[in-house]
Amino acid sequence: MNLYEQHPYWLMKDGIVASYPSLDKNLAIDVAIMGAGISAALTAWHLRNSGLSVAVFDRRHAGMGSTAASTAFLQYEIDTPLTDLCRYVGEKNAVKSYELCREAIYAISDICKKLKPEFGFHFRPSTQYASFKTHYNKLLQEYKLRLQHGFNVEWMEPSDLKKTFGFEASGAIFSEDGGEVDAYLLTHALLKDFEKSGHTVYNNTPILNIEYLKHGVTLHAHHGLKIEAKKLVIACGYESLQYIPQKIADIYSTYALVSEPISDRYTWHRSSLVWETATPYLYFRVVDGSRILVGGRDDPYHLPHIPPSHIKRKTEQLTQAFQKKMPHIPLKPDFSWAGAFAVTKDGLPYIGIIPERPHTYFALGFGGNGITFSVVAADIIHDMVAGKKNENAQLFRFNR
Ligand SMILES: Cc1cc2nc3c(=O)[nH]c(=O)nc-3n(C[C@H](O)[C@H](O)[C@H](O)COP(=O)(O)OP(=O)(O)OC[C@H]3O[C@@H](n4cnc5c(N)ncnc54)[C@H](O)[C@@H]3O)c2cc1C
Repeated sequence: MNLYEQHPYWLMKDGIVASYPSLDKNLAIDVAIMGAGISAALTAWHLRNSGLSVAVFDRRHAGMGSTAASTAFLQYEIDTPLTDLCRYVGEKNAVKSYELCREAIYAISDICKKLKPEFGFHFRPSTQYASFKTHYNKLLQEYKLRLQHGFNVEWMEPSDLKKTFGFEASGAIFSEDGGEVDAYLLTHALLKDFEKSGHTVYNNTPILNIEYLKHGVTLHAHHGLKIEAKKLVIACGYESLQYIPQKIADIYSTYALVSEPISDRYTWHRSSLVWETATPYLYFRVVDGSRILVGGRDDPYHLPHIPPSHIKRKTEQLTQAFQKKMPHIPLKPDFSWAGAFAVTKDGLPYIGIIPERPHTYFALGFGGNGITFSVVAADIIHDMVAGKKNENAQLFRFNR
């Protein structure tokens, strides 16, 4: 599967920030982690001081899966509104899922501070506006429910929106807790710190087959090399679906652009993350203080190869949609790309174990909030591998 196509901004900007060797000998370790994106990097980092021997294997270059393509909004609001999520999983579980994503934003902030420099991390409020007047009532209900459960939100009327953002909408939720980060740089920083603790990361090392045995797994890599591990973590992003017997997600395509630098007089209130209630939703934010990122216009399918002409058309659509909302900001696309992403029935990720795959833990940060879910996954998997009970695990279990 092509996880992205064309030119993700952060990959172009950051380039090759670290190199890791490919596997050239057989290994016997405690924990093997398949994948070296943000999910694997966070899981590996959490396990770095566990006393276990851990190694990370990626068939590509670390960070060059979906992580390189991510627009990296850090939001506790998942793609399923809290009001809807309550219907899927009950109010208690729905609120807890939102709370865990909010905590994940603060956890990323702490990690970035610890690993200095801070990898483009900034706290940013998030503003969700009603795409149509008919969405007003549902959005207001969403606001009231979040307020009732202690989320730091304000309701914005059309006049507030016009004054603070310069665009028109019938209402919006202004949410204090949110953030942004350079997910690609953060992934490498986590992996480098993991290496400093005596562990190894392998690039260009595809795991071609997994044998599930009585006391662990044997991974078959390239050139006939074998890795024997007591435990396996699968953090292969959307490519993990091939290891799961049941269907748990659909793969969509999504599109994003980053503009040429613009004058800072055009940026808006506290450089808030902005998104809307329509599905699929348009979203935009300020990048590096002077560029605008716009994303969305998803297709409900994913082609093995997305033609450049289709990405060009989507770039034009995103530009037009942004200009319709913000006609006073001149936007010229500089980088554009497409990426795969997985959608689950309730918007929540799948984390943990399945009976058919012994000794194996899945860290699957699916959905629009993949990165905050990766933080939650790393915490749960760390505890599971260490044999500790994690009470949040049941929220994201496979048989929910
Ligand atoms: C355009 C776009 C915008 C997005 N925007 C946001 C956003 O604003 N906020 C947000 O939170 N999330 C967003 N996401 C989602 C987020 O980027 C993903 O959830 C996250 O990057 C997934 O990380 P991962 O580590 O699970 O997967 P990946 O980064 O894909 O890493 C998995 C790795 O596994 C490796 N692998 C696969 N199979 C094997 C194998 N057999 N052997 C060895 N290695 C293997 C791959 O090479 C890959 O490097 C966005 C995604 C896209 C595409």
